[in-house]
Amino acid sequence: MTQKPQKLSKTGTVKPTEVINVADDVDQVVCDGGGGPLGHPQVWYSFDGRDYAACHYCGRKFIKNQAVKSG
Ligand SMILES: [Zn+2]
Repeated sequence: MTQKPQKLSKTGTVKPTEVINVADDVDQVVCDGGGGPLGHPQVWYSFDGRDYAACHYCGRKFIKNQAVKSG
C-alpha cells in the first residue's frame, strides 16, 4: 500500500477545458473524467439553479443549452 505523490506539472502541456452541453431540464450531471487513466471517481454535480456546473476533478464545464443559446 504505497502511494507515490503525483506531479501535476509534466511537460507544460495543458489539456484544454472540455465543455459539455446538456439539456435545459437536466438538474444533475455526472462526471468521471471520461474514464481511462485520465478519469476520476464518478461525481454528481447539481446545477442548483445555475446554467452551468464545473467538475472539481477534471475542470470540465457542463453548460445548459439555454445558456448557450442566450449567450
Ligand atoms: Zn470530471
